[in-house]
Amino acid sequence: MKKERVIKNPLSLQNQNSNDSNILGVFENVNSELFETLRLSPNTSIPFLVSSGGTTSRAAADNHWVVDLRKNYKNISFDLDKKHVDVEAGVNMGDLSDFLKKHKRSFPIGLSGKTGMGYILTGGISPLSRSRGLAIDQILEIKGFWGNGKEFHLSRPHTQKETTLEWKALCGAAIFLGIVLKLKLKTQKLKPILSWTANLSFSELSECINQAESWPDSLSFQWIWGKNIYAYAIGEVINTDHEAVLINLLEKLPFTCNRNIRKVNDMNSLPSLSLGNNKINNLSHSEVLGLLGPAWEENNLKVLKIIKKLLDKRPNESCYIASQQLGGFTNSKEIDTSFVNRDAIWKPWINGSWEAHNQSKRKKTLKWIEECWNNLEFICPGVHLAQIHPHLPWHQKELSSAFKDWLPKLQEIKALNDPKNLMPPLK
Ligand SMILES: Cc1cc2nc3c(=O)[nH]c(=O)nc-3n(C[C@H](O)[C@H](O)[C@H](O)COP(=O)(O)OP(=O)(O)OC[C@H]3O[C@@H](n4cnc5c(N)ncnc54)[C@H](O)[C@@H]3O)c2cc1C
Repeated sequence: MKKERVIKNPLSLQNQNSNDSNILGVFENVNSELFETLRLSPNTSIPFLVSSGGTTSRAAADNHWVVDLRKNYKNISFDLDKKHVDVEAGVNMGDLSDFLKKHKRSFPIGLSGKTGMGYILTGGISPLSRSRGLAIDQILEIKGFWGNGKEFHLSRPHTQKETTLEWKALCGAAIFLGIVLKLKLKTQKLKPILSWTANLSFSELSECINQAESWPDSLSFQWIWGKNIYAYAIGEVINTDHEAVLINLLEKLPFTCNRNIRKVNDMNSLPSLSLGNNKINNLSHSEVLGLLGPAWEENNLKVLKIIKKLLDKRPNESCYIASQQLGGFTNSKEIDTSFVNRDAIWKPWINGSWEAHNQSKRKKTLKWIEECWNNLEFICPGVHLAQIHPHLPWHQKELSSAFKDWLPKLQEIKALNDPKNLMPPLK
């Protein structure tokens, strides 16, 4: 453990805000001594942060201790009989996917292989989730330390009736309660993936969303809109007949240019959903807010017009709004989890960037993100806490929109298991 007053963050993290922070120090091993040290530290008046994939603005932050799991928690092992995988918290989703591919298995990773365990712990919306469920729905066992330093090792209940409050809390809200070190996950047979990508106009996007809302669960639609609109449909191929059905649906989608339909072996081989101009840029900082809401149906044009207006006044070209499609299995409530917005069909997310260290530009961008949220709330009443913002004034609102009626119980569970609030706040 390195321990100094405040040091320039020595970790190389994917998120630039986190990279540029001045932290209290880094821990690389999680055990009861870590919690004891933190409890005795005069600086532990604020929570510490965990860095798994390091892709969010809360992988490290000014004046915080950081636990970096990326070096010492990299084991993965596969149970050949049960087809389950044990994965430690320093493994990113790309590596998990590559590992499973060797066993002809797969896991519903998200749109990027770079994300770490935070992807699974915060819900995990995959382009395959409509047929497979969320990443948290694949958890069979969860192991780690509560914020009070006590170890936990819980197994998935067999039925809804057997679900404990702790299980429900850890599946979707673990990052507020403790440090997860290891998960046992279900895997699925690896199947080929069909991808459709294209550039769209406003009216084509509207029509694509309309069509996607009546698709079978094996197809999903995502799009990203900044200066231009780029869209991305993904389907998992079950057999030759099914492939023909998917291709038929994909061929019905309108587009302006660059349409490409291709078949790849796994999610890792897919192109990334980006505007093409967001290369890793160490000169800008950003925040992301994920919203959740039902199908747009007759509100389709109204919502898109609102989004267009918001994008017309975005603070700079790196700001954008994108969306992922849920539905199908993500709507099922087989076992209760903390992902309570189960009825969601769309997850639009708002990405706001600004020139690093420029406070007035930061303020302007954060105001724009809030304006987007306020304008879209009527159709997206929920929040997906894939990124948390305890450092921003809207944290209480994002908690309420993410956990709804479950929040008070969750706060009670935190009071029991993390009474000193070592983990990020639930208030
Ligand atoms: C390029 C890109 C694509 C994405 N695509 C998707 C997508 O398709 N679907 C989707 O649902 N999300 C997606 N996300 C969001 C992403 O999954 C979340 O932001 C997730 O929280 C990132 O986790 P991480 O481990 O990479 O990041 P980190 O910054 O390391 O961690 C994120 C948060 O989780 C906490 N945390 C991480 N690991 C642990 C642990 N082991 N124990 C306790 N707390 C922990 C951290 O304290 C932090 O607050 C995407 C993000 C990026 C950057």
